[in-house]
Amino acid sequence: MAPLVVREIPSAVANLGVSQVNPALIIARKRDGGRLPDVEFTEFVSGYARGEIADYQMAALAMAIYLRGLDAGETATLTRAMLESGTTLRWSASGPPRVDKHSTGGIGDKVSLVLAPLLACCGLWVPMISGRGLGPTGGTLDKLESIPGFRTDLSLPEIQRITADVGCVITGATSDLAPADRKLYALRDVTATVSSIPLITASIMSKKLAEGLTALVLDIKYGSGAFMKSLDDARQLARSLVDVGTEMGVDTRALITDMNQPLGRMVGNALEVDEAVATLEGHGPEDLVVLTLELGSELLEQTGRAADRALATQRLREKLVSGEALDRFRAMVSAQGGDLDAPRRRADRTEIRARAPGYVASINGQQLGQIVIELGGGRKQTTDSIDHSVGLEMAVRIGDRVEVDQPLAWLYAPPAAARAAAPQLEAAIGLGPQPPPTPRLIVERIAPSAGRAPEEP
Ligand code: URA
Repeated sequence: MAPLVVREIPSAVANLGVSQVNPALIIARKRDGGRLPDVEFTEFVSGYARGEIADYQMAALAMAIYLRGLDAGETATLTRAMLESGTTLRWSASGPPRVDKHSTGGIGDKVSLVLAPLLACCGLWVPMISGRGLGPTGGTLDKLESIPGFRTDLSLPEIQRITADVGCVITGATSDLAPADRKLYALRDVTATVSSIPLITASIMSKKLAEGLTALVLDIKYGSGAFMKSLDDARQLARSLVDVGTEMGVDTRALITDMNQPLGRMVGNALEVDEAVATLEGHGPEDLVVLTLELGSELLEQTGRAADRALATQRLREKLVSGEALDRFRAMVSAQGGDLDAPRRRADRTEIRARAPGYVASINGQQLGQIVIELGGGRKQTTDSIDHSVGLEMAVRIGDRVEVDQPLAWLYAPPAAARAAAPQLEAAIGLGPQPPPTPRLIVERIAPSAGRAPEEP
C-alpha cells in the first residue's frame, strides 16, 4: 500500500537554527515523498552529528530516504552536511594536485597498493584514506597490515607530512573525518538501510572529499564478487557519485568494471601484498596492470598531467617498468613504520584440481570471499582479528580450458582447514562444455553529466 500523504509540510525557511527544526516534520516530508529543503536537511544532519537529534529520528529519516530516495541536490546536501561535521585536510593552493581513487570493493582488488605510488611518481599527491574489509571483499588496510610494522592509524598532521615528503600515504580514517558518517553508518547497519544509493553516495563521498581533493576516480565494480551485483545498479551508483563529486567542485569520473572473477590471481592479505609488489616489479597479472593504468590515466588526464589517455598510460607504464613506483611504495611503507623486506608469512599450500574437463564458465566471487573469511583472512564482525597468512590463488580465469587433474586453484591454509574448504572452492568454479564469452574488464566510463561542469575551487 502506498504511504498515506497526511499534509503538505512548509518549505525551508532561511536562517533556521537547529532548535527551530522540527525533526518529525522533516521525517514526515520525506516519508510522504517530498523534497527536503537544504537548510532544514543540513540542520537535521548536523544536529544529529552533535547529538541533538536522536538515533531513532535519524533511523526513521534513513528509512524514509531508503524508501523514497533523494534527488541529486538533496544527496549533495547530505554529503556536504556529513563532510562539514568534521575536519577536512587543507593543502596549499600552490602545491601539487591531490588525487585519489575509490573502489566499491572486489575480490583480489589490490589496485590501491600499486596506483598510489605510481601516481606519486607522476608528481601528484595521494592522501588515500582507506577502509577495512567487512563481508566478502577484503580491505586495503588489512592487506597493508600484513607488512610487519605498517601503521594505518596516522594522525592528520602525519598524513599531511608523509604526503608532502613521499607523495602518497594509505591510512585509516581518523575519528575527526566525517564523524556523522561513522554514526550514521552504524545506524544503517542495524536498520536495514545500507543498500540505498543516496546514502551510500553521501557516505563514500563525505569521507573522500574530506581529503581535500582536486580530482577523484571511482572504480565501481559489478558482478558476483562485488557489492553491486547488476550492471544497472553499478551504473546508478556511479552516476550518483560522479554527480555529487562534480556538484561539490571535485573533478570526478568513474569506471564501471567487471568483478565476476578475482582481480589478479591472489586473494588474501599477505598474498595480495606479494602480488602488488610483483606488479610494482613489472611482472603483475595483466588484468591488474590494465585496470591500474586505466584508473591512473584518468587522473593524469583530469589533472592536466597528460594531454590524452594514451600518453598518460605510456607514462604510467614507464614508471612501473623502471622500478620508480616500487621505490616510492617502499618509501611510503617505511614512512608508515613498515618493513617491506621482513618476511610475510604464507600458510601451507594445497592444490585443488579439476575432476572433469571443460571450460571455466563462472567463478563465484562471493563464495571465494566467504572461503577466505572462513579461513580467518576476513571478518564476520568488526571486532574479529585477521590471519594475514591465509587465502587462495587462482590458476584459471573465465574462458580457460581445463583437463582432468589440472590445477584450478591453491588454498593457503592449515591442512585441516584447507580440506574443509576444498569442496566449496571447487563448487565456486563452474565448468561448462562450451567456451563462454570473454568478460570485458572495463565496461563503461562515467563522466560528469552535460551541464554539470566542476565548480571553480
Ligand atoms: N562504503 C561506504 O563507505 N559507505 C557505504 O554506505 C557503503 C560502502
